[in-house]
Amino acid sequence: MEKPLSGRFRVLDSIRRGGPISRVEIADACGLSRSAVTGVVQALQNEGWIAELPESGNNGTNGTNGDSHRGRPRVNLDMNPAAAHVLGVKLSLHRMSVAVTDFRGDVLHTTTLPFNGSQHPDIAADMIEVGVRRCLIEAKIDKSRVLGLCVAIPGYINNLEGMCYWSPIFDRDDVAFGPLLAERFPFPTSIENDANMVTLAEHWFGEGRNLSNFAVVTVEHGIGMGLVTHDRLYRGHNGIGPEFGHAKIEFSGRACRCGQLGCVEAYASDYAILRQVLPHFSLDSYSQDPKAYHVEIERITAEAKAGDQSLAGEFAKAGRILGRAIGNLIATLNPPKVIVTGEGLRAGDMLFEPLVAEARKLQLAGNRFETDIVAHLWGDDVWARGAAALVLQQAYMDPGAPIVEQAGNQAIV
Ligand SMILES: [Zn+2]
Repeated sequence: MEKPLSGRFRVLDSIRRGGPISRVEIADACGLSRSAVTGVVQALQNEGWIAELPESGNNGTNGTNGDSHRGRPRVNLDMNPAAAHVLGVKLSLHRMSVAVTDFRGDVLHTTTLPFNGSQHPDIAADMIEVGVRRCLIEAKIDKSRVLGLCVAIPGYINNLEGMCYWSPIFDRDDVAFGPLLAERFPFPTSIENDANMVTLAEHWFGEGRNLSNFAVVTVEHGIGMGLVTHDRLYRGHNGIGPEFGHAKIEFSGRACRCGQLGCVEAYASDYAILRQVLPHFSLDSYSQDPKAYHVEIERITAEAKAGDQSLAGEFAKAGRILGRAIGNLIATLNPPKVIVTGEGLRAGDMLFEPLVAEARKLQLAGNRFETDIVAHLWGDDVWARGAAALVLQQAYMDPGAPIVEQAGNQAIV
C-alpha cells in the first residue's frame, strides 16, 4: 500500500515549487492548517532542511499575504539546497548518464559514459559504481553527503522488490538488481522503470509541473509510458506500470521484441524505423552493437530531414501509427495533457505533426475539452534527474530518517 503524503512532504514540496514562500502561502498551497504548517516548518528548520529568508524588496504584491500586514515583517522560507545531495542514473542500451542534484532537485553535475546493453548484472552494477564515483569526484561531493541513489532502467521493473523481470540492459531475466547495487554503495539505492522516471521529472520540473493528472509517452529504442494521477505516479499490478509500447494495433502484425505481434513499438520506435530502412537489420544484431545502430538512426533522421522523401515517409508512418495509439490512450483515460518525449523526437515535425493529426482525428465530436499533446525533447540527464527526484520524494516524506531501506521498502510515489 502507498503511504499517504506526509505533512513534511507537502510542506517541503510547496517550498520547492513556490519558494521563497511564506507560512501562510504554504498552508494555502498544501491544504494544511496554519498551526500545522508552523509546527512542521519549525522541525524542518531545526534539522537544517529549510531556512528563513528576511524580506527583500516588494514581496506579496497580490495583497493577500497575511504575514505582511500591519508592519509585521514578512518572513519567507526556502529550501536549503546544500542540506544534502541525491544521485540519479539513466541506463540505455548505449549510454549511462549520472546526475547529482542538491536537496531542491537542481542538477549540480552530470557524467555520461558509454554503456552496453545485454550485460551480466554484476558487470552492469560495476559500471554504475564507476559512473557514480566519477560523477561525485567531478562534482567534488563526498559520498557521506548523499542521501540515496535511484537507477532508471528500461523494462519490467518492480521498485518495491528491487527486481528486474526483463530488460534489454541485462543478458538474462529475473535479475534481483537492487541487492547488487546495495552492496556497492554506502547509501540507500533503488531501481525504477525509466519511463516512470522521466514522468516524475516532467511532474517536478517540466511540462507536468502544474498538473495533477497527465500521461507521458516515451519514444526511444522502444516505447514506454508513465502516468500521473492525483499527483502520484501510477503503479499497476505488482508495482509495474503501464506498458503502452506493447498495446496492440494490428492482428498478426509486425514482430515486437517482446515476442508478440502487432505492438505499437514494432511500428513507431527507433528499432521499428531501422528495421524498415536497413535491409539486414535484426533485433539480435542491434543488441550486439547498439551504439552502431544509434549512429544509424541519427544518420537516417538527418537524411530524412535533408529531403529524402522515402525516409521522411517512414517517420510520417511511424508518427501516424503512434498518433492512433495515443488517440486510443486519450479515449481510455482522457488526460488533460499527453507529453511525448524521448530521443525519437529527434525526428521533429516529420514524426510529431502526423502524430498529432492522427490523434486529433480520433477525438470524439462531443468532447469539448481537447487533450493537449505536446512534444518535449530533453536529454538523458533529465531522465537521471527524474531518478534523483524519486530519491528526493522519499527523503521529503521523512527527511529526518531519509530514504527507504533497500529491497522490501515501501513505494512513496
Ligand atoms: Zn511488444
